[in-house]
Amino acid sequence: MARKKKNKNKSKVRVDFRKNREARPRDQNLTRELNGNELAEDLDVGERISGKGKVSRKRTIINAEAVGDQILREVDESTCLQGRVLSSIGLNSVVEGPGRKKYECTIRRVLRTMARDARNAVVTGDRVLFRQEGDDYQGVIERVEPRTGVLSRGSQRREHIIVSNVDQVVIVVSAFDPPLKPSLVDRFLVSAEKGGVRSIVCINKVDLVNPADLQPIIGIYGRLGYEVVLTSVVDGRGINRLRDLMKDSETVFSGQSGVGKSSLLNEIQPSLKLATSEVSDWSGKGRHTTRRAILMPLEVGGWVADTPGVRQFELWDVIPEEVEGYFIEFRPFVTRCRFPNCSHTHEHDCGVKGAVDQDLISILRYDSYLRIMGVEHGSRRPDG
Ligand code: GDP
Ligand code: ZN
Repeated sequence: MARKKKNKNKSKVRVDFRKNREARPRDQNLTRELNGNELAEDLDVGERISGKGKVSRKRTIINAEAVGDQILREVDESTCLQGRVLSSIGLNSVVEGPGRKKYECTIRRVLRTMARDARNAVVTGDRVLFRQEGDDYQGVIERVEPRTGVLSRGSQRREHIIVSNVDQVVIVVSAFDPPLKPSLVDRFLVSAEKGGVRSIVCINKVDLVNPADLQPIIGIYGRLGYEVVLTSVVDGRGINRLRDLMKDSETVFSGQSGVGKSSLLNEIQPSLKLATSEVSDWSGKGRHTTRRAILMPLEVGGWVADTPGVRQFELWDVIPEEVEGYFIEFRPFVTRCRFPNCSHTHEHDCGVKGAVDQDLISILRYDSYLRIMGVEHGSRRPDG
Protein backbone atom coordinates (compact mmCIF):
# COMPACT_ATOMS: atom_id res chain seq x y z
CA MET A 1 0.00 0.00 0.00
CA ALA A 2 2.90 2.32 0.62
CA ARG A 3 2.94 4.84 -2.17
CA LYS A 4 6.20 5.40 -3.91
CA LYS A 5 7.42 8.91 -3.44
CA LYS A 6 6.58 10.60 -6.71
CA ASN A 7 7.87 14.02 -7.38
CA LYS A 8 6.19 14.66 -10.65
CA ASN A 9 2.60 15.68 -10.22
CA LYS A 10 3.36 16.80 -6.76
CA SER A 11 2.45 20.40 -6.48
CA LYS A 12 0.28 22.90 -4.88
CA VAL A 13 -3.32 21.97 -5.25
CA ARG A 14 -5.96 24.65 -5.13
CA VAL A 15 -9.23 23.66 -3.62
CA ASP A 16 -12.45 25.53 -3.24
CA PHE A 17 -12.24 27.19 0.07
CA ARG A 18 -14.82 25.88 2.52
CA LYS A 19 -17.26 25.17 -0.22
CA ASN A 20 -18.76 22.47 1.93
CA ARG A 21 -19.39 24.83 4.75
CA GLU A 22 -21.38 27.31 2.71
CA ALA A 23 -24.12 24.81 2.06
CA ARG A 24 -24.32 23.66 5.61
CA PRO A 25 -27.13 25.72 7.10
CA ARG A 26 -29.53 24.25 4.58
CA ASP A 27 -28.33 20.70 4.98
CA GLN A 28 -30.60 19.35 7.65
CA ASN A 29 -29.52 15.77 7.29
CA LEU A 30 -25.90 16.52 7.79
CA THR A 31 -26.62 18.74 10.73
CA ARG A 32 -28.48 15.90 12.36
CA GLU A 33 -25.65 13.51 11.78
CA LEU A 34 -23.08 15.67 13.44
CA ASN A 35 -22.53 15.60 17.09
CA GLY A 36 -22.51 18.79 19.06
CA ASN A 37 -18.74 19.06 19.21
CA GLU A 38 -18.26 19.03 15.51
CA LEU A 39 -20.88 21.66 14.92
CA ALA A 40 -19.36 23.87 17.52
CA GLU A 41 -15.95 23.44 15.98
CA ASP A 42 -17.18 24.24 12.52
CA LEU A 43 -19.07 27.31 13.51
CA ASP A 44 -16.09 28.62 15.32
CA VAL A 45 -14.03 29.18 12.23
CA GLY A 46 -10.75 30.75 13.12
CA GLU A 47 -9.69 31.65 9.64
CA ARG A 48 -10.34 34.99 8.05
CA ILE A 49 -10.43 35.65 4.38
CA SER A 50 -10.06 39.04 2.85
CA GLY A 51 -13.20 40.27 1.21
CA LYS A 52 -12.81 38.97 -2.28
CA GLY A 53 -15.58 37.34 -4.26
CA LYS A 54 -16.65 33.80 -3.62
CA VAL A 55 -14.90 32.63 -6.72
CA SER A 56 -11.46 33.65 -5.59
CA ARG A 57 -11.76 31.98 -2.25
CA LYS A 58 -9.25 29.28 -2.84
CA ARG A 59 -6.89 27.87 -0.40
CA THR A 60 -3.52 26.54 -1.37
CA ILE A 61 -2.46 23.26 0.11
CA ILE A 62 1.18 22.59 -0.21
CA ASN A 63 2.58 19.14 -0.85
CA ALA A 64 -0.45 17.50 -2.27
CA GLU A 65 -1.14 15.72 -5.53
CA ALA A 66 -4.34 15.08 -7.38
CA VAL A 67 -5.20 11.46 -8.17
CA GLY A 68 -8.44 11.20 -10.10
CA ASP A 69 -10.83 13.44 -8.24
CA GLN A 70 -9.10 12.83 -4.96
CA ILE A 71 -6.34 14.92 -3.54
CA LEU A 72 -3.53 13.06 -1.86
CA ARG A 73 -1.63 14.75 0.85
CA GLU A 74 2.08 14.24 1.10
CA VAL A 75 2.86 13.05 4.60
CA ASP A 76 5.91 11.68 6.30
CA GLU A 77 5.12 7.99 5.98
CA SER A 78 7.79 6.92 8.43
CA THR A 79 5.84 8.44 11.29
CA CYS A 80 2.54 6.91 10.27
CA LEU A 81 0.82 3.54 10.53
CA GLN A 82 -1.26 1.93 7.81
CA GLY A 83 -4.83 1.10 8.59
CA ARG A 84 -8.32 0.33 7.36
CA VAL A 85 -11.34 2.32 8.42
CA LEU A 86 -13.88 -0.07 9.98
CA SER A 87 -16.48 2.59 10.64
CA SER A 88 -16.66 6.32 10.42
CA ILE A 89 -19.13 8.87 11.59
CA GLY A 90 -18.67 12.60 11.71
CA LEU A 91 -15.09 13.23 12.69
CA ASN A 92 -14.51 9.90 14.39
CA SER A 93 -13.34 6.67 12.85
CA VAL A 94 -12.39 3.27 14.12
CA VAL A 95 -9.28 2.18 12.27
CA GLU A 96 -7.75 -1.27 12.25
CA GLY A 97 -4.00 -0.86 12.40
CA PRO A 98 -1.09 -3.30 12.31
CA GLY A 99 -1.68 -6.53 14.23
CA ARG A 100 -5.44 -6.07 13.92
CA LYS A 101 -5.36 -3.53 16.74
CA LYS A 102 -8.13 -0.99 16.73
CA TYR A 103 -7.52 2.74 17.03
CA GLU A 104 -9.98 5.52 17.61
CA CYS A 105 -9.00 8.20 15.17
CA THR A 106 -9.95 11.72 14.40
CA ILE A 107 -9.30 13.33 11.04
CA ARG A 108 -6.64 15.87 10.28
CA ARG A 109 -8.67 18.93 9.59
CA VAL A 110 -7.02 19.72 6.29
CA LEU A 111 -8.40 16.44 4.89
CA ARG A 112 -11.91 17.71 5.39
CA THR A 113 -11.06 20.96 3.69
CA MET A 114 -9.57 19.10 0.75
CA ALA A 115 -12.55 16.79 0.27
CA ARG A 116 -15.21 17.93 -2.16
CA ASP A 117 -17.66 17.11 0.58
CA ALA A 118 -16.47 17.00 4.16
CA ARG A 119 -18.73 14.04 4.84
CA ASN A 120 -16.72 11.95 2.42
CA ALA A 121 -13.32 12.96 3.75
CA VAL A 122 -12.98 9.57 5.42
CA VAL A 123 -15.45 6.73 4.81
CA THR A 124 -15.81 3.13 5.93
CA GLY A 125 -13.45 0.92 3.96
CA ASP A 126 -10.82 3.59 3.37
CA ARG A 127 -7.18 2.64 3.52
CA VAL A 128 -5.44 5.32 5.49
CA LEU A 129 -2.19 6.49 6.97
CA PHE A 130 -2.60 7.59 10.55
CA ARG A 131 -0.39 8.95 13.27
CA GLN A 132 -0.66 7.40 16.68
CA GLU A 133 -1.18 9.93 19.45
CA GLY A 134 -0.79 9.38 23.15
CA ASP A 135 -0.24 6.01 24.77
CA ASP A 136 -3.67 4.62 24.10
CA TYR A 137 -5.02 3.35 20.88
CA GLN A 138 -5.80 6.76 19.53
CA GLY A 139 -4.68 8.55 16.44
CA VAL A 140 -5.19 11.08 13.71
CA ILE A 141 -5.84 10.15 10.10
CA GLU A 142 -3.31 11.96 7.94
CA ARG A 143 -4.03 10.60 4.49
CA VAL A 144 -6.65 8.62 2.63
CA GLU A 145 -5.36 6.38 -0.17
CA PRO A 146 -7.09 6.43 -3.58
CA ARG A 147 -10.38 4.56 -3.51
CA THR A 148 -11.53 1.76 -5.77
CA GLY A 149 -14.88 0.01 -5.69
CA VAL A 150 -17.12 2.56 -4.05
CA LEU A 151 -20.81 2.45 -3.32
CA SER A 152 -22.47 5.85 -3.16
CA ARG A 153 -25.88 7.24 -2.94
CA GLY A 154 -27.38 10.67 -3.29
CA SER A 155 -28.52 12.53 -0.27
CA GLN A 156 -30.00 15.94 -0.83
CA ARG A 157 -28.26 16.09 -4.19
CA ARG A 158 -24.89 15.45 -2.67
CA GLU A 159 -22.85 12.33 -2.95
CA HIS A 160 -22.66 10.19 0.10
CA ILE A 161 -20.04 7.48 -0.20
CA ILE A 162 -21.33 4.54 1.82
CA VAL A 163 -18.25 2.35 1.61
CA SER A 164 -14.99 2.17 -0.36
CA ASN A 165 -12.56 -0.49 -1.56
CA VAL A 166 -15.05 -3.32 -1.87
CA ASP A 167 -15.21 -6.04 -4.56
CA GLN A 168 -18.90 -6.82 -4.65
CA VAL A 169 -22.30 -5.80 -3.43
CA VAL A 170 -24.98 -8.25 -2.35
CA ILE A 171 -28.21 -6.49 -3.24
CA VAL A 172 -30.71 -7.98 -0.81
CA VAL A 173 -34.40 -7.86 -1.59
CA SER A 174 -37.18 -9.87 -0.04
CA ALA A 175 -39.57 -12.01 -2.01
CA PHE A 176 -42.37 -10.80 0.24
CA ASP A 177 -42.85 -8.24 2.99
CA PRO A 178 -41.50 -5.78 2.00
CA PRO A 179 -42.51 -6.59 -1.57
CA LEU A 180 -39.88 -7.10 -4.22
CA LYS A 181 -39.27 -3.93 -6.21
CA PRO A 182 -37.33 -4.55 -9.41
CA SER A 183 -36.83 -0.82 -9.89
CA LEU A 184 -34.93 -0.66 -6.61
CA VAL A 185 -32.72 -3.56 -7.66
CA ASP A 186 -31.98 -1.72 -10.89
CA ARG A 187 -31.00 1.43 -9.05
CA PHE A 188 -28.57 -0.53 -6.93
CA LEU A 189 -27.21 -2.24 -10.04
CA VAL A 190 -26.58 1.08 -11.77
CA SER A 191 -24.85 2.42 -8.72
CA ALA A 192 -22.68 -0.68 -8.41
CA GLU A 193 -21.74 -0.61 -12.10
CA LYS A 194 -20.79 3.01 -11.78
CA GLY A 195 -18.72 2.42 -8.65
CA GLY A 196 -16.86 -0.49 -10.21
CA VAL A 197 -18.38 -3.06 -7.87
CA ARG A 198 -19.62 -6.50 -8.97
CA SER A 199 -23.26 -7.27 -8.10
CA ILE A 200 -24.98 -10.32 -6.65
CA VAL A 201 -28.76 -10.26 -6.40
CA CYS A 202 -30.04 -12.01 -3.27
CA ILE A 203 -33.74 -12.70 -2.99
CA ASN A 204 -34.45 -13.47 0.66
CA LYS A 205 -37.55 -14.78 2.48
CA VAL A 206 -38.23 -17.29 -0.29
CA ASP A 207 -39.97 -19.42 2.35
CA LEU A 208 -42.88 -16.99 2.10
CA VAL A 209 -43.61 -17.45 -1.62
CA ASN A 210 -44.01 -20.09 -4.26
CA PRO A 211 -40.56 -20.29 -5.92
CA ALA A 212 -42.21 -20.54 -9.33
CA ASP A 213 -43.42 -16.96 -8.90
CA LEU A 214 -39.83 -15.79 -8.80
CA GLN A 215 -38.81 -17.37 -12.09
CA PRO A 216 -39.42 -14.25 -14.22
CA ILE A 217 -37.24 -12.05 -12.06
CA ILE A 218 -34.54 -14.70 -11.69
CA GLY A 219 -34.60 -14.96 -15.47
CA ILE A 220 -34.15 -11.25 -16.00
CA TYR A 221 -31.09 -10.87 -13.79
CA GLY A 222 -29.65 -14.29 -14.60
CA ARG A 223 -29.70 -13.53 -18.33
CA LEU A 224 -27.96 -10.23 -17.67
CA GLY A 225 -25.13 -12.21 -16.13
CA TYR A 226 -25.71 -11.30 -12.51
CA GLU A 227 -25.44 -14.00 -9.88
CA VAL A 228 -28.89 -14.57 -8.33
CA VAL A 229 -29.15 -16.36 -4.97
CA LEU A 230 -32.41 -17.38 -3.33
CA THR A 231 -32.21 -17.48 0.45
CA SER A 232 -34.27 -18.06 3.54
CA VAL A 233 -33.11 -17.76 7.10
CA VAL A 234 -36.16 -19.80 8.10
CA ASP A 235 -35.27 -22.98 6.19
CA GLY A 236 -31.61 -22.22 5.50
CA ARG A 237 -31.87 -22.25 1.72
CA GLY A 238 -29.03 -20.57 -0.14
CA ILE A 239 -27.00 -19.61 2.94
CA ASN A 240 -24.03 -21.85 2.11
CA ARG A 241 -23.98 -20.64 -1.47
CA LEU A 242 -24.00 -17.01 -0.32
CA ARG A 243 -21.20 -17.69 2.17
CA ASP A 244 -19.13 -19.32 -0.59
CA LEU A 245 -19.60 -16.29 -2.81
CA MET A 246 -18.39 -14.05 -0.01
CA LYS A 247 -15.33 -16.09 0.95
CA ASP A 248 -12.09 -14.10 0.59
CA SER A 249 -13.90 -11.12 -0.93
CA GLU A 250 -14.81 -7.71 0.35
CA THR A 251 -18.56 -7.63 0.21
CA VAL A 252 -21.08 -4.96 1.01
CA PHE A 253 -24.64 -5.86 1.94
CA SER A 254 -27.17 -3.39 0.73
CA GLY A 255 -30.92 -3.18 0.53
CA GLN A 256 -34.01 -1.73 2.12
CA SER A 257 -34.65 -2.04 5.81
CA GLY A 258 -36.52 -5.16 6.75
CA VAL A 259 -35.43 -7.38 3.86
CA GLY A 260 -33.33 -9.51 6.22
CA LYS A 261 -29.74 -8.31 5.80
CA SER A 262 -28.88 -8.64 9.47
CA SER A 263 -30.63 -12.00 9.73
CA LEU A 264 -28.69 -13.30 6.71
CA LEU A 265 -25.37 -12.11 8.07
CA ASN A 266 -26.09 -13.79 11.39
CA GLU A 267 -26.72 -17.05 9.52
CA ILE A 268 -23.55 -16.67 7.52
CA GLN A 269 -21.57 -15.99 10.66
CA PRO A 270 -23.41 -16.34 13.99
CA SER A 271 -20.61 -14.60 15.90
CA LEU A 272 -21.58 -11.30 14.26
CA LYS A 273 -24.65 -11.21 16.51
CA LEU A 274 -26.26 -8.34 14.63
CA ALA A 275 -29.48 -6.94 15.98
CA THR A 276 -32.46 -7.79 13.82
CA SER A 277 -35.73 -6.00 13.89
CA GLU A 278 -39.34 -6.96 14.26
CA VAL A 279 -41.67 -6.16 11.44
CA SER A 280 -43.27 -3.34 13.37
CA ASP A 281 -39.91 -1.57 13.63
CA TRP A 282 -39.12 -1.33 9.99
CA SER A 283 -42.49 -1.04 8.33
CA GLY A 284 -43.18 2.16 10.20
CA LYS A 285 -41.45 5.41 9.43
CA GLY A 286 -38.06 6.47 10.57
CA ARG A 287 -36.09 3.44 11.53
CA HIS A 288 -32.56 4.66 11.74
CA THR A 289 -30.72 2.03 13.70
CA THR A 290 -28.05 1.24 11.11
CA ARG A 291 -27.06 4.67 9.88
CA ARG A 292 -23.49 3.94 8.92
CA ALA A 293 -21.61 1.17 7.23
CA ILE A 294 -19.53 -1.06 9.44
CA LEU A 295 -16.79 -3.32 8.12
CA MET A 296 -16.52 -6.72 9.80
CA PRO A 297 -14.01 -9.54 9.25
CA LEU A 298 -15.37 -12.91 8.06
CA GLU A 299 -14.21 -16.21 9.52
CA VAL A 300 -14.16 -17.76 6.03
CA GLY A 301 -11.84 -14.97 4.91
CA GLY A 302 -12.65 -11.54 3.60
CA TRP A 303 -14.77 -8.73 4.93
CA VAL A 304 -18.37 -7.73 4.94
CA ALA A 305 -19.91 -4.29 5.31
CA ASP A 306 -23.43 -3.79 6.49
CA THR A 307 -24.95 -0.54 5.24
CA PRO A 308 -27.74 1.76 6.27
CA GLY A 309 -31.13 0.57 5.14
CA VAL A 310 -32.53 2.77 2.46
CA ARG A 311 -36.14 3.19 1.62
CA GLN A 312 -35.48 5.22 -1.45
CA PHE A 313 -32.25 4.92 -3.29
CA GLU A 314 -31.32 8.14 -4.94
CA LEU A 315 -28.61 7.74 -7.52
CA TRP A 316 -25.70 10.03 -7.35
CA ASP A 317 -24.08 11.76 -10.22
CA VAL A 318 -25.25 9.60 -13.08
CA ILE A 319 -25.78 11.88 -16.02
CA PRO A 320 -28.62 10.89 -18.36
CA GLU A 321 -26.27 9.99 -21.23
CA GLU A 322 -24.48 7.59 -18.89
CA VAL A 323 -27.50 5.62 -17.75
CA GLU A 324 -27.90 3.50 -20.89
CA GLY A 325 -24.34 2.28 -20.42
CA TYR A 326 -25.26 0.75 -17.07
CA PHE A 327 -28.21 -1.13 -18.55
CA ILE A 328 -25.90 -3.63 -20.12
CA GLU A 329 -28.56 -5.38 -22.20
CA PHE A 330 -29.36 -2.16 -24.11
CA ARG A 331 -25.95 -2.11 -25.74
CA PRO A 332 -26.67 -4.29 -28.80
CA PHE A 333 -29.75 -2.24 -29.66
CA VAL A 334 -28.62 1.35 -29.35
CA THR A 335 -26.94 1.10 -32.75
CA ARG A 336 -30.40 0.66 -34.24
CA CYS A 337 -31.67 4.01 -33.02
CA ARG A 338 -32.26 6.52 -35.79
CA PHE A 339 -30.76 9.40 -33.82
CA PRO A 340 -27.23 8.97 -32.57
CA ASN A 341 -28.08 10.92 -29.41
CA CYS A 342 -31.28 8.96 -28.82
CA SER A 343 -32.30 8.92 -25.16
CA HIS A 344 -34.61 5.91 -25.76
CA THR A 345 -37.47 7.73 -24.09
CA HIS A 346 -39.63 9.65 -26.60
CA GLU A 347 -37.79 9.26 -29.91
CA HIS A 348 -39.11 7.53 -33.01
CA ASP A 349 -37.21 4.64 -34.53
CA CYS A 350 -35.54 3.77 -31.28
CA GLY A 351 -33.72 0.44 -31.21
CA VAL A 352 -34.19 0.03 -27.47
CA LYS A 353 -37.93 0.63 -27.61
CA GLY A 354 -38.11 -1.76 -30.55
CA ALA A 355 -36.34 -4.41 -28.49
CA VAL A 356 -38.76 -3.86 -25.60
CA ASP A 357 -41.71 -4.33 -27.98
CA GLN A 358 -40.18 -7.60 -29.16
CA ASP A 359 -39.55 -8.76 -25.59
CA LEU A 360 -35.83 -8.77 -26.17
CA ILE A 361 -35.47 -6.28 -23.32
CA SER A 362 -37.55 -6.75 -20.18
CA ILE A 363 -40.31 -4.19 -19.76
CA LEU A 364 -39.49 -4.07 -16.05
CA ARG A 365 -35.95 -3.06 -16.82
CA TYR A 366 -37.09 -0.49 -19.34
CA ASP A 367 -39.49 0.95 -16.73
CA SER A 368 -36.58 1.27 -14.30
CA TYR A 369 -34.57 2.99 -17.00
CA LEU A 370 -37.33 5.55 -17.54
CA ARG A 371 -37.60 6.21 -13.83
CA ILE A 372 -33.90 6.79 -13.49
CA MET A 373 -34.05 9.10 -16.51
CA GLY A 374 -36.81 10.97 -14.69
CA VAL A 375 -39.40 10.22 -17.35
CA GLU A 376 -42.95 9.41 -16.34
CA HIS A 377 -44.20 6.43 -18.19
CA GLY A 378 -47.49 4.61 -18.19
CA SER A 379 -45.79 2.47 -15.61
CA ARG A 380 -47.24 -0.94 -15.02
CA ARG A 381 -46.06 -1.17 -11.48
CA PRO A 382 -47.09 1.08 -8.61
CA ASP A 383 -43.85 0.58 -6.69
CA GLY A 384 -41.43 3.37 -5.91
P1 GDP B 1 -32.62 -5.82 7.86
O1 GDP B 1 -33.30 -4.54 8.26
O2 GDP B 1 -32.48 -5.92 6.37
O3 GDP B 1 -31.36 -6.07 8.57
O4 GDP B 1 -33.66 -7.00 8.24
P2 GDP B 1 -33.67 -7.94 9.53
O5 GDP B 1 -32.59 -8.96 9.45
O6 GDP B 1 -33.75 -7.11 10.74
O7 GDP B 1 -35.07 -8.74 9.30
C1 GDP B 1 -36.31 -8.07 9.27
C2 GDP B 1 -37.42 -9.07 9.61
O8 GDP B 1 -37.53 -10.06 8.60
C3 GDP B 1 -37.18 -9.82 10.91
O9 GDP B 1 -38.40 -9.91 11.59
C4 GDP B 1 -36.69 -11.17 10.45
O10 GDP B 1 -37.01 -12.20 11.40
C5 GDP B 1 -37.46 -11.37 9.16
N1 GDP B 1 -36.74 -12.25 8.23
C6 GDP B 1 -35.46 -12.13 7.84
N2 GDP B 1 -35.13 -13.11 6.96
C7 GDP B 1 -36.24 -13.84 6.77
C8 GDP B 1 -36.54 -15.01 5.97
O11 GDP B 1 -35.70 -15.56 5.22
N3 GDP B 1 -37.81 -15.49 6.02
C9 GDP B 1 -38.77 -14.92 6.81
N4 GDP B 1 -39.98 -15.47 6.81
N5 GDP B 1 -38.51 -13.84 7.59
C10 GDP B 1 -37.27 -13.31 7.57
ZN1 ZN C 1 -33.08 4.83 -28.77
